[in-house]
Amino acid sequence: MDVYGKLGVRTIVNAAGFFSHLGSCSLPVEVVEAMASAASRPVDLDELQVAAGEVLADLTRNEAAYVTSGCAAAIALATLACITGGDPARIARLPEGRGLDRTVVMHRAHRIPYDRAVELVGGRILEIGNAMYTLPWELEAALEDSPAAVLWVAGSWLPDTTLTLDETIVRAHASGVPVIVDAAAQLPPLHNLWHFTSELGADLALFSGGKALRGPLASGLMVGRRDLIEAARANGAPHAYLARALRVGKQEICGLIAAVHRFTELDHALLAKRYEEIVERWTFELQSVPGVTVRRAFPNHAGQPVPRLHLCLETGARLRRDELVRRCYEGDPRVAVLRGEGESVYLTPDTLSEDAEAEVVAARLREVLVGSVSSSC
Ligand SMILES: *Cc1c(COP(=O)(O)O)cnc(C)c1O
Repeated sequence: MDVYGKLGVRTIVNAAGFFSHLGSCSLPVEVVEAMASAASRPVDLDELQVAAGEVLADLTRNEAAYVTSGCAAAIALATLACITGGDPARIARLPEGRGLDRTVVMHRAHRIPYDRAVELVGGRILEIGNAMYTLPWELEAALEDSPAAVLWVAGSWLPDTTLTLDETIVRAHASGVPVIVDAAAQLPPLHNLWHFTSELGADLALFSGGKALRGPLASGLMVGRRDLIEAARANGAPHAYLARALRVGKQEICGLIAAVHRFTELDHALLAKRYEEIVERWTFELQSVPGVTVRRAFPNHAGQPVPRLHLCLETGARLRRDELVRRCYEGDPRVAVLRGEGESVYLTPDTLSEDAEAEVVAARLREVLVGSVSSSC
């Protein structure tokens, strides 16, 4: 019996997405092997971080890189890096931070649950603009008070009527203020690993290790300017400062290297083709179910070039969305699907542990849906 079985905890066939509450995804064998190998011996953690940073900077075509315990942790450490510059005397003054510039500027339309990581370490979020848009003068006015950084969130679900990243960078840099990009879920495409920083000029870009990279769930990747990466490292474990609480382990550091290495070597075109085939298969198997309509949706909820199946429940269907989601999740096997707008759900192929699970998902949905369509349909 596996570890989960012994605990009486059921595993999940995940067709919903790379979500923490679902344990994200299965880890590729290279990642698991790297983590097991790292676990076998103690090492100097700071030395490991420096070496990992060099390899990861190389793989991601950046000046420097650093491993964190997640993207939210990377937001906290990037904030600390920008506020303190890595100076121990400044680091020791946080989170109160009296006398330090600790404002982090954000478009109000970019506010997300994870940005509380800024405040966790003593940063103060200054919102510019409104829920729909930001005007250039609003950023200019905020920059006059020498904030520590601007945090820009990348994601297609956000309104594109805020200032573009390009414009934000040009204006912030004119005032000597660094720009941090939260790019947690912006992979694939692969080139985003260097796009925001090396191409667009952002000072730091932050990614989740546990999403499409398929690295350890408790890992994150920070890439960008060497001085800021070093400042982040000065704040982080093994040093006993504020961010000690965000320590990343040696297994996660080595697991993330293996994951990024694998991701850069993946045949992304082939993978995209496989995902299309799964979505086609789902379409074929579910289109004949009475009371539902299915269609391919693209790109996915985070704007990544991954196709999904959008399944809409018609008014004739007796089963409502939440009941469908619940029955899939409570059934055996446990299948996770994502709630969509109105009476709809999404199925994504990229979080499955193996292609054979696609059949399991379709069969489960058929079973739940066919048993529940009213005879009048
Ligand atoms: C997932 C996500 C995060 C949090 O990342 P973790 O790696 O889970 O800590 C932060 N920002 C955005 C935009 C995200 O999608």
